[in-house]
Amino acid sequence: MFRSILAPKATMRSAFQQSSLPTVIRPSSIAGLSRRTYATQNEEQDVVIIGGGVAGYVAAIKAGQEGLKVTCIEKRGVLGGTCLNVGCIPSKALLNNSHLYHQILHDSKHRGIEVGDVKLNLGQLMKSKETAVSGLTKGVEFLFKKNGVNYVKGTATLTGEHEVKVNLNEGGEVTYTGKNILLATGSEATPFPGLEVDEKRIITSTGAIALEKVPESMIVIGGGIIGLEMGSVWSRLGAKVTVVEFLGQIGGPGMDAEIAKQAQKVLKKQGIDFKLNTKVTGGDPSGENIKINVEAAKGGKAEELSAEVVLVAIGRRPYTEGLGLENIGVEVDDKGRIVIDSEFRTKFPHIRAIGDATFGPMLAHKAEEEAVAAVEWIKKGYGHVNYGAIPSVMYTHPEVAWVGQNEQELKAAGINYKIGTFPFSANSRAKTNMDTEGMVKMLADAETDRILGIHIIGANAGEMIAEGTLALEYGASSEDISRTCHAHPTLAEAFKEAAMATHGKAIHF
Ligand code: FAD
Ligand code: NAD
Repeated sequence: MFRSILAPKATMRSAFQQSSLPTVIRPSSIAGLSRRTYATQNEEQDVVIIGGGVAGYVAAIKAGQEGLKVTCIEKRGVLGGTCLNVGCIPSKALLNNSHLYHQILHDSKHRGIEVGDVKLNLGQLMKSKETAVSGLTKGVEFLFKKNGVNYVKGTATLTGEHEVKVNLNEGGEVTYTGKNILLATGSEATPFPGLEVDEKRIITSTGAIALEKVPESMIVIGGGIIGLEMGSVWSRLGAKVTVVEFLGQIGGPGMDAEIAKQAQKVLKKQGIDFKLNTKVTGGDPSGENIKINVEAAKGGKAEELSAEVVLVAIGRRPYTEGLGLENIGVEVDDKGRIVIDSEFRTKFPHIRAIGDATFGPMLAHKAEEEAVAAVEWIKKGYGHVNYGAIPSVMYTHPEVAWVGQNEQELKAAGINYKIGTFPFSANSRAKTNMDTEGMVKMLADAETDRILGIHIIGANAGEMIAEGTLALEYGASSEDISRTCHAHPTLAEAFKEAAMATHGKAIHF
């Protein structure tokens, strides 16, 4: 039923060849060309993917592996989206190296390591971040080639139910038809009304991964994951960081309240100041320092703070600008999320949406799961994502990681649960590492002992949560975990002991 704008057979090339030789209208060179050269035509694709972020690029690779003819359109000029270019990867490079720097400055002496003059070379720190980013984005491009994905650099707009027009980055335009279309256009930082972002003084996470000097002071609006990760980086490098958070706890509502309290205590000890239950009402960037007006969230005395740099980290919102959803009537909800059903389908069954552009947590691994499942729906007619077992990790030091439900949620749902905890201060490996802050907390159904949630604060919590996710996925009981042998000495033994404490008693505490 789709409108075919296919080229005559003789002009068709394989999808892969087209990527190096697209059939394009070049406005400057239309006159005098043969009709065949400037027709906007392309071989019909099984799947046209808009967005080359984690959602889009994983879907493209998977589609290629499934033998589908696939085109992926990305306007950034480089693959990997937010995650690889300005999100997960650069922020973790900075978190890792700023932690090392901080540890050398403040911690190595106690370990018997005397270091001479320690100096920060911010330029080199940023370079090493860029090396990680470029290595990974090139890796994705290599995987596209390996799996026969047609990669198009340009901005895509829906112009028909099966038709996508691309304004090419290099000039000109081309139109693709797809039996299926996958929308994976991601998200952008939510702006704060009245504070215009210049990514130098008033910044989002994009500016926070690229500051050219360490500011003396930084106000972070929003004590969610971005605020705490990027706040940690600049605090470790020497900035005086103050986090202003609207809610009564840091880390967002997914984080277990008890763990969030511990995390705040540790981060405070590291030098970050917190103002909870406080809302930012406005600001004034005209002076040398930026002024920020705050007041108690429930109304109260107003106060003025000031800092050299202000990081706006109040959440992200779906990005669909210029996508042309309105051209064909693809629906979005009141938060701008593309409306889909359980098979990722919009109201057009062949147009699906995945990743940050639609519902669910804005996490790279969630986007990745959806990408694989969506392609499976297209190719095989089935696909699955278990939204109850998607881990979250905050890469501060110590890390905070969780999967499943937290105590607040279980209470609100009226579920009877039991708790088992084990502190890293009683774990042998944590002791040898002199890194004993934190604990593992398990929540299991009071009657069946089935694990409902796992919450960890501690070094390497982000790696350890994989075991918790697997346990949840397989419907493990806390007894199942406690009867599973864990290597000694490892931090993971704290995981096993927390499970022992949930259905019985821990040995070492
Ligand atoms: P995106 O990665 O945003 O990709 C969408 C792509 O679509 C973009 O490249 C965009 O240029 C392109 N695009 C948009 N419109 C068009 C169009 N019309 N035509 C062509 N191309 C288009 N998640 C984690 O799981 N772990 C982390 O540690 C983590 N850290 C983060 C740190 C920061 C600072 C930020 C900002 C985010 C972080 N995230 C993290 C979240 C993660 O980056 C996102 O969940 C993930 O990138 C979503 O992938 P996506 O493909 O849906 O969207
Ligand atoms: P968030 O939703 O996690 O946190 C935003 C915080 O800002 C909330 O706690 C909210 O209460 C607070 N807030 C909102 N308005 C405020 C105001 N006026 N004054 C004070 N506080 C206010 O959003 P984020 O931290 O910006 O992160 C965005 C997305 O990126 C999240 O979905 C997150 O999952 C993802 N991300 C993930 C990671 C990771 O997985 N490690 C890292 C970075 C970002």
